[in-house]
Amino acid sequence: MADLLLPTNTIVHPDKDRFLHEENPFEAMMARFDRAADLLDLEPGLYKVLRNPEKTIIVSIPVMMDSGEVEVFTGIRCIYNTSRGPAKGGIRFDQNVTLDEVKALAAWMTWKCAVVNIPFGGSKGGVICDPLKMSIGELERVTRRYTAGIIATLGPDSDVPAPDVNTNERVMAWLMDTYSMHVGHTVNAVTTGKPVAMGGSLGRREATGRGCMIATREALAHLGLPVKGRTVVVQGFGNVGSIAAELLQAEGCKVIAISDRTGGWYNKKGIDVKHAIAHVAEHQTLEGFGGGEPIANEQILELECDVLLPAALENVITTKNAANIKAKIVCEGANGPTSAGADAILDDKGVFVIPDILANAGGVTVSYFEWVQNRSGYYWSEQLVNERLTEIMVNSFAEVLKLSKLHRVNMRTASYMLAISRVATVHKLRGIYA
Ligand code: GLU
Repeated sequence: MADLLLPTNTIVHPDKDRFLHEENPFEAMMARFDRAADLLDLEPGLYKVLRNPEKTIIVSIPVMMDSGEVEVFTGIRCIYNTSRGPAKGGIRFDQNVTLDEVKALAAWMTWKCAVVNIPFGGSKGGVICDPLKMSIGELERVTRRYTAGIIATLGPDSDVPAPDVNTNERVMAWLMDTYSMHVGHTVNAVTTGKPVAMGGSLGRREATGRGCMIATREALAHLGLPVKGRTVVVQGFGNVGSIAAELLQAEGCKVIAISDRTGGWYNKKGIDVKHAIAHVAEHQTLEGFGGGEPIANEQILELECDVLLPAALENVITTKNAANIKAKIVCEGANGPTSAGADAILDDKGVFVIPDILANAGGVTVSYFEWVQNRSGYYWSEQLVNERLTEIMVNSFAEVLKLSKLHRVNMRTASYMLAISRVATVHKLRGIYA
């Protein structure tokens, strides 16, 4: 909580060698932004505009707990940039949410939507709480009061939330209902990742994991490696990691290790992913799964494998362990899993990193499809959703790869360059309203 009060936006001039606070996500985002901005020769005025969020709201969320006591949580919503369209980005419920994390995640959403060229800006929300210790009723009251607190920014044309860490379609249903009650009619396009019964898109739940699978498939093809028989390690077994593991296995890969916050499981013959998913559905976590040997979370990242898929939280690959990563490909299912300092180490080792703003863009891409379907009132088949998702992921990967070859930069820098140039173009066209 303490760092909520710190001025977080005080560095005005780019200082490209700073990795002073390696684990600060906003600095991690800015270090990559600075590098790409430099290569693009971004005008100083635009640089200043794009390094600042448009708007950040911090709300207190008083909630009557089941015990009868009142608890006050803190909620944040950061609208980073809306030049290309309505702000878009998830809401996470987590104990470790900070203002700088939410700002970084909102900036990443801006770059992500621009990389895959969908007509959205970027935003993110977070509530500092431990949802795993809360009842369904308490979660609903937190969601509704948080929604009411940020309601002025929400709307299909202004800011459209979605699920993120520890939130899901049920949370989106409460959010949509609260918003609709406030405006007096049902507005399903105010959020995405809703239950299918109330306007959610088919394929949205699987979209981020599916996008990771497609990006991995493209990376393997680029490196001249067959998909069949490739070994895969998945760190984080939530909505993204579990689906990516399942789909990569269906493509013929061998998933040799998986983990979640309770620890990991290693099986060199291959983990039975469906069984692991069924275990989590029943027990919430992988604890007691037993489909291999237990392995620590730190060790799982350093396993010999073809593809490492970090799919949980930020900063799991840092300057401390990057030199020990043995994967050929890192596919960033999570947002910000690699620190800025670790980028150079992975580059030196020749690891091909598919950066978060490209690798996990499948989720927001199908969110866009959901928003389009809600607004047109015409719903697509799952096959059509998946075909259109595949087209966007394959084309975006190719565009980023082309830029990375042209400028002799890695895929991360190329993704930032593509995203920043798209956002900057619109800013230039629109000018500054005074
Ligand atoms: N939370 C997801 C992300 O980080 C999805 C965001 C969205 O669909 O708006 O990309």
